[in-house]
Amino acid sequence: MSIDTELQKHYSQLLGIVRPWEVKNVELKLTQKKVEIELGWQWGAAKCPECGRACSIHDCAPERTWRHLDTMQFTTLIRARVPRSDCPQHGVKTTIVPWAAPQGRFTLLFAGFAVEVLLASASISQGCELLGISWDTAQEIMRRAVERGLERRQLEDLKHLGMDEKSFRRGHSYITLLTDLDESRVLDVVEERTTEAADQLWKTLHPEQKQAVEAVAVDMWEPFIQTIQKQVPEADIVHDKFHVSKYLGEAVDKVRRQEHKELMAQGDETLKGTRQLWLYNPQNFSPDQAEEFSALKDLQLKVARAWAAKELFSKFWEYQEEGWARRFFKRWFGWVSRSRLKPVVEVARMLKRHLDNLLTYLKHHITNAVTEGLNSKIQSLKAAARGFRSFRNYRIRILFFCGKLSLYPQ
Ligand SMILES: [Zn+2]
Repeated sequence: MSIDTELQKHYSQLLGIVRPWEVKNVELKLTQKKVEIELGWQWGAAKCPECGRACSIHDCAPERTWRHLDTMQFTTLIRARVPRSDCPQHGVKTTIVPWAAPQGRFTLLFAGFAVEVLLASASISQGCELLGISWDTAQEIMRRAVERGLERRQLEDLKHLGMDEKSFRRGHSYITLLTDLDESRVLDVVEERTTEAADQLWKTLHPEQKQAVEAVAVDMWEPFIQTIQKQVPEADIVHDKFHVSKYLGEAVDKVRRQEHKELMAQGDETLKGTRQLWLYNPQNFSPDQAEEFSALKDLQLKVARAWAAKELFSKFWEYQEEGWARRFFKRWFGWVSRSRLKPVVEVARMLKRHLDNLLTYLKHHITNAVTEGLNSKIQSLKAAARGFRSFRNYRIRILFFCGKLSLYPQ
């Protein structure tokens, strides 16, 4: 057996090429560090890609090239002219080759390997370097992988979803995320944070899937509330307790700033450098901080009352029964209203308006913590990419890394 025949046999085995395909020629281009493998169609009928019927061959399509896994450090390419079947029903069609997806520029093995490398790389440019491919090629591989994954995705068990916004570009540019809280995955993402934009997200689900949704965790953001009421009217809206805590925290900070200004006007520096103390969870204080804070708390400060209102509200989430939680809220609201701490009163009024959808928490116990976690993962994707020029690429990247999709070919 000559070296050439040996090589052909070797590559047939390596590629898993079976008849009627055969390795016709293996060409080593040493100076270009390339291996080119030419495949040929031996004989016989060609399957129609539409119906699978064995048809006669009309002709062969012009030669195409696919990038394959490297052989040692040699870039390896496959070349072939693919037969076109002549189906009585579907006419002349290019048959499907076993080593690549239709229209794909890579073999399935290469695409699978590239997905693996890109998933493991710290950045896409690092992945490109390891694979010896361009940025556009990597983007194309990820796009195809995401398309495959979305087609295969099982969404039968969607029960608890999350909807949240995330800033996209500088200024007031946002995207909206729909997440599956039970599986910790991003379902899809759209530009903007309007009702119309969020409506688009629901279109990715079938009517039966929407009907199965039990609850959606969401901030008290009117466009999102509207889209949920319209698209999944059977589902409970659950306002996220972390968002509530954030609003109350901001109110405490506003009270502190105002009071600090008033005190400084009288030369009193009591609140200087205390910002973090009022925002921290007291359980995370160092012994020094705990001492300082406990001294501050005992002074007759407005910020201490605001802080107490925020702390007290956390009890709300611990109730088991709606009736008790309602009574608690009423007392808390009354107390806050009498406090005359305007920023806290404003948040309390907002909570009162949305009370029904705060009480749903007692039933479902869902929050957007999962979504926030995915949000920070997305943030690091954005940082690694140094921003995204197009939303389309951003979406592909998010779904590639945070969609928990089955990304591999085959
Ligand atoms: Zn056919």
